Amino acid sequence: MDVRLNKKIKVSSEYDVVVAGGGMAGFCAAVAASRQGAKTLIIEHFAILGGLGSSGGVGNFDGRLEGAGNIFDEVVAKMRALDAMEKTGSKFDHNVLPIVLQKIALDSKVKLLFHTDCVEVIRKKKTITHLIVFNRSGFSAIKAKVIIDATGEGVVSQFAGAEILDKDKIKELIPPSMMFFMRDIGKTCLQKQISSKYIYKTKDDIPMLTPWWEPDGKVGIKFKIIGHDTGSGEGLSNAEIEAREKVLPLVKYFQENYKPTYKFDYTASILGIREGRRIKGEYVLKGTDLFAGKKFEDVIAVGTFQTDAGDPKTDKRVYIKGGATKVPPYHIPFRSLKVKDLDNLLVAGRCLSADRIAMSSARVMATASMIGHSAGAAAALAIRTKKKLRELNIEKLQNMLTKDKMDLLL
Ligand SMILES: Cc1cc2nc3c(=O)[nH]c(=O)nc-3n(C[C@H](O)[C@H](O)[C@H](O)COP(=O)(O)OP(=O)(O)OC[C@H]3O[C@@H](n4cnc5c(N)ncnc54)[C@H](O)[C@@H]3O)c2cc1C
Repeated sequence: MDVRLNKKIKVSSEYDVVVAGGGMAGFCAAVAASRQGAKTLIIEHFAILGGLGSSGGVGNFDGRLEGAGNIFDEVVAKMRALDAMEKTGSKFDHNVLPIVLQKIALDSKVKLLFHTDCVEVIRKKKTITHLIVFNRSGFSAIKAKVIIDATGEGVVSQFAGAEILDKDKIKELIPPSMMFFMRDIGKTCLQKQISSKYIYKTKDDIPMLTPWWEPDGKVGIKFKIIGHDTGSGEGLSNAEIEAREKVLPLVKYFQENYKPTYKFDYTASILGIREGRRIKGEYVLKGTDLFAGKKFEDVIAVGTFQTDAGDPKTDKRVYIKGGATKVPPYHIPFRSLKVKDLDNLLVAGRCLSADRIAMSSARVMATASMIGHSAGAAAALAIRTKKKLRELNIEKLQNMLTKDKMDLLL
């Protein structure tokens, strides 16, 4: 039996731009909007910015690091100045990233609301008037002129009734991975076990283990989890539980077979979700567009990273067709950010309007940052010029982005 929640909710604040989700895409979106003069808020479920780049332990910026815009440039420069990122490479310390992002966001006058979930929207015809959020103060409503859904999972778009792409394939998403971390203590330190149904003896038993070696005797290791709908509450919870049950047995396997002096340190706070709900926009970017290096007149970001779509049915290193393919630089059009049939909602980051293969490339953090930056600039431009997102002068937007040191390969 269903129940109905009938509740009067207080409108707690009003913003020009509200960004749901403070991952790399949401962070860049908010900073871009705020620097263009829009009163901007980030609503974030966790207490830190960076999304998978921090909470997920994914300490490596893929995609083209140059020309990704001055906000991303600033992140890289600050991380390097703190010795928290390789001087010429792309690996970084995921524990330092949220401190740097927070500083840039606050210096850019972005308001941050942590420990807060977007749980519903109020929609009038094609416009979202309010986001309903929940945190320690209970429910409240936040009024917004433009909303950017950077939740990775497209949750705000779903609440607003947007169409989800490939809805029938939701049980078969690109597998997520858990990251765990170990460090060399210079003496053998075999991991003690708690009783577990997971016992790993040979290479055939284990999921794909990908180590990310660090120069200072540390290693991050990721392994895949399959068979859960991580876009559902229970599915995500079960996937997290399974992942942590597997960690210590895998630590043991790693020590016994590779590095007996590496001690288990910690796991990432959350499972790393590669694919969530992708939202239908005015254009669905396709894998074939990437392979052809397609150019669009309304380009607002450029992707360069290879596709990376693991087979949902296995935790081994197996890819779906076209899922591990190099691509030439390709355009991401503004239409893939504009949610279909909604006037004031943009998607940014991995919930972009793209097919699975295209998303598997466009989701990497340098590209997600570009998409976010462009979404924020577009939102501010719409507000300043009193236009709907679909009426925006794209050339004006592109000029703003070029001024912000974004190389759009026009
Ligand atoms: C295992 C793994 C390895 C990867 N390796 C690399 C790599 O080497 N290099 C690379 O560049 N990329 C890599 N990626 C991809 C990359 O990390 C992500 O695609 C990228 O970080 C996505 O950024 P985002 O901002 O779109 O989403 P996310 O980082 O997922 O951020 C979304 C944010 O929204 C918040 N949120 C969600 N729902 C709500 C809600 N209802 N209310 C409030 N807040 C909400 C979340 O807490 C989160 O902080 C990897 C991904 C995985 C999983």
